[in-house]
Amino acid sequence: MLGLHSFPRSPVLAAAKNAGKQPDSRYKGTIELPQTKFSLKANSVTREPEIQRFWEQKQLLETITQKNQGEPFTLHDGPPYANGDLHMGHALNKILKDFINRYQLLQGRKIFYVPGWDCHGLPIELKVLQSIDAEARMKLSPIELRKKAAEFALKTVDQQRSSFQRYGVWGSWNSPYLTLQPAYEAAQIGVFCQMVLNGYIYRGRKPVHWSPSSGTALAEAELEYPEGHTSRSMYAVFKMTFASDKFPKELEYLLSSLGVAIWTTTPWTIPGNTGVAVNDKLMYSVVEVVFNNDDSSLGGKKSTKAGRKYGNGLLKPVVSHLIVAADLVSSLEDKWNVQLVVKGSCTGSALEFCRYKHPLENREGVIVIGGDYITTDSGTGLVHTAPGHGQEDFVTGQKYGLPMLSPVDDNGNFTDEANEFAGMSVLSDGNEAVIKALDANSSLLMEEAYVHKYPYDWRTKKPTIFRATEQWFASVEGFMPLALAAIKNVDWIPSQGENRITSMVSGRKEWCISRQRAWGVPIPVFYHVDTGEPLLNEQTISHVQAIIAQQGSDAWWSLTTEDLLPDTYKAKASNYRKGTDTMDVWFDSGTSWASVLGTKRWPADVYLEGSDQHRGWFQSSLLTSVATKGVAPYRQVLTHGFVLDEKNVKMSKSLGNVVDPRSVIEGGKNQKEQPAYGADVLRLWVASVDYTGDVAIGPQILKQTADVYRKLRGTLRYLLSNLHDWKPELEIEYDDLPGIDKYTLFQLASVMDSLKDSLDKYQFGKFFQSVQRYAVLDLSNFYLDISKDRLYVGGTDSFTRRSCQAVLASLLLYLARGISPVVPHLAEDAWQHLPFSYILPDGSKAESVFEAGWPEVDPRWRTISDRDKKLWSLLLELRVEVNKVLESARMGKLIGANLDAKVCLHLGGEDDALLHSTLQAMAGSEDGTVDKLHVIFLTSQVEVVDCEDADCAYTGSCKLEGSGGRAWIGVKRAEGQKCERCWKYSPAVGSFTLHSTLCERCYKIVEALQSPALATS
Ligand SMILES: [Zn+2]
Repeated sequence: MLGLHSFPRSPVLAAAKNAGKQPDSRYKGTIELPQTKFSLKANSVTREPEIQRFWEQKQLLETITQKNQGEPFTLHDGPPYANGDLHMGHALNKILKDFINRYQLLQGRKIFYVPGWDCHGLPIELKVLQSIDAEARMKLSPIELRKKAAEFALKTVDQQRSSFQRYGVWGSWNSPYLTLQPAYEAAQIGVFCQMVLNGYIYRGRKPVHWSPSSGTALAEAELEYPEGHTSRSMYAVFKMTFASDKFPKELEYLLSSLGVAIWTTTPWTIPGNTGVAVNDKLMYSVVEVVFNNDDSSLGGKKSTKAGRKYGNGLLKPVVSHLIVAADLVSSLEDKWNVQLVVKGSCTGSALEFCRYKHPLENREGVIVIGGDYITTDSGTGLVHTAPGHGQEDFVTGQKYGLPMLSPVDDNGNFTDEANEFAGMSVLSDGNEAVIKALDANSSLLMEEAYVHKYPYDWRTKKPTIFRATEQWFASVEGFMPLALAAIKNVDWIPSQGENRITSMVSGRKEWCISRQRAWGVPIPVFYHVDTGEPLLNEQTISHVQAIIAQQGSDAWWSLTTEDLLPDTYKAKASNYRKGTDTMDVWFDSGTSWASVLGTKRWPADVYLEGSDQHRGWFQSSLLTSVATKGVAPYRQVLTHGFVLDEKNVKMSKSLGNVVDPRSVIEGGKNQKEQPAYGADVLRLWVASVDYTGDVAIGPQILKQTADVYRKLRGTLRYLLSNLHDWKPELEIEYDDLPGIDKYTLFQLASVMDSLKDSLDKYQFGKFFQSVQRYAVLDLSNFYLDISKDRLYVGGTDSFTRRSCQAVLASLLLYLARGISPVVPHLAEDAWQHLPFSYILPDGSKAESVFEAGWPEVDPRWRTISDRDKKLWSLLLELRVEVNKVLESARMGKLIGANLDAKVCLHLGGEDDALLHSTLQAMAGSEDGTVDKLHVIFLTSQVEVVDCEDADCAYTGSCKLEGSGGRAWIGVKRAEGQKCERCWKYSPAVGSFTLHSTLCERCYKIVEALQSPALATS
């Protein structure tokens, strides 16, 4: 707390407070009042944009970067998605980056920071599609769609850019990188080409959501799940043919009459079955199927019960024993209306590698271990696995090398591969035919209607299927050792990041880079019309790359195949068609290093994004860079957490706990509840949190942060206002400074070291704490508090005032630059109000705080002796205790202000003679130096006494940690009369005839002044 703003202790405040109320003292003109136009109110809504315009007009980032002599510094921006409004996570991200860039700029580095945006991809494409009606949607050509998507993205970029700039973030905003720029796209194609040449790109199959009704692949966001979809679910049995080594020996005798029971809601996928997956942690039972004697529904006629239709698997069984999950035995007994007599049991892992005969085809399938997706919530605990028809099936199939069959065409009809079912629709007659065929050979146990959520095409409102299609992949396996080595060479902050990305990359076999979308960069491939063979080589890719560099990727859709093929292929153009796939947007943003950093700026010094990017951008950037250059595109990777509300709950519109960065800066609808805090308070909040984990923000936190900001501003204002008549020529030689001033500069040096260290290590939380402790608390509570006497009544040109001003000037010039990376508007505002010019070594004036650079600490400031360090820390400790006794004297109405008091000090148990004599000397009254106890305690007098003084009504004692001794403190009324000018008590008041109300110090000062300064009474 700044004393200046608490209660009046000085004549100046009294003068200010009483202005116009009471007759002025005749000595008013001899007092130095603080003066500055730097207001205590930030007024950030108008002031911050003014400051930003000043930066913009002076092109500071560019000009300082040009002038700086240090090494280039490249923080490579991760592109936010050009879709919608910014949230607090965006603000946290960009502000952290700005701390780093501004600090490096102050350090003399050349800053290269190009903000970017991710402009392609499904979410933008969907926004466009959603904005038009269903009919127009069907008619929309890819080129028309791309035009609308580009317009949308560019508009969003503009909006987001102005928000980022309002946060005070510096960067090349006039030339950002956008993933839709032709040069960017061309560089991306270049990376793809290199990966093709290195043999890392291949064609493979992968199941995708497919809409037979519109003949396209769909993204998750294009699916709807209408109520009331009914599937024909069925239980089926596959006859076992082989027991693996792990299968229980005591059950092997049952093998010839044993089957695995499965359940599915998509019988049409049975022709694609190549495995049955179990959960290795679940228990499974081998059961004998026994008919209920009392039940007439089974044993002869096919009957139904509760909508169930029993199949020949139960009615005319080929196998008498089944394997099912142990937990499901009783519910299956009920469902199938049979008794299941348990013959034995085993874990899922004991079933691995057993084999069964496919129920329709002349081949075998394998039992494999699936994942946690296999539960006993429904079905049998054994999952029919068709890797060509499901995502989990695909992953499990990959793990075991199961064949991926997908005998279904674009229209949703079985292909010839499905033999007897060829030509039938999988969603109608084909499904029916499969069930019939299974029943015919006694594989069907039971069938029933099943109501569940099933994905429909959002355009046609018809059901979709999962179907394996040809896709393009990057083989991560192919360069895995390089990728893992590259990760090790990067400095990950916090260090857990290394483990995260290592485990994510090492668990990845391939990266599917193709998408069946129109809004993206095309995969520059041609297919032979007859054979379907892809045409993809250096010549063809480079030709497309050159066209895209000129015309942008629209050319892929607007030009003919002949135009897109290089000369050597033009004559055969009619044999080829161009591909329609685009690249995964992670490939777009992942190759940003190629176009933005080029060769000059590569690799980047720092990448800084949210911790979810170990899975995203950090990884895609790493993979594309390693696959083409063998190393990572970054030296350091910093991550930050997510922004939560004050109760550490995720922000969501429905909970109403979203904190919008814009309303923090500009204020909300109700300015009482959501005041306009300005960008610097938001930035100060960013500095205050431990960004390496999740961070919290809310009204209370913002209020506290704003309070710190206000106090910091108050400190700067105090410094500025007391330097109104100071100029650098008045500088006092360091060696001549009083001890207290040297000690203050020593503290300043330590704080500057700490700030630098924190910024070097990206420890902004530590930076915030140092600033708060020193500039907001310690400095105001001590040095600035006791310096008022020197500044206001010490005499304008006196040594005591000038030496104090010299210290204040250092405090101001150093702190303003020290805090400028975090609160640049505040620092700049203070700099603009400097009452003197700050001249740079080259003779020019530093018009901006950022032109002044990071301040180097004068090495002499660090040279104070250990003895002095000990003395001053002891005095500060003593001061705390003295203030406690003074406070109780004030409560007891013995004194009002501290100046009404005399402090008696007795040091006991202290055998440090030198310290004793030093304090004794410092207890004396005025002799020109400020290194006095009464100055430090802000009282009129201090006396070091030999024993405890019984005259003191208020006393206290304490142990001094600094010396190991004890101190006794007594307080009584100060001796003498109160000086009219300085309010200090002195026996000398009344002894000067011309100035009978002044103390000896004030008398000397006033005597030395020319008479005009004195008001005539
Ligand atoms: Zn005085």
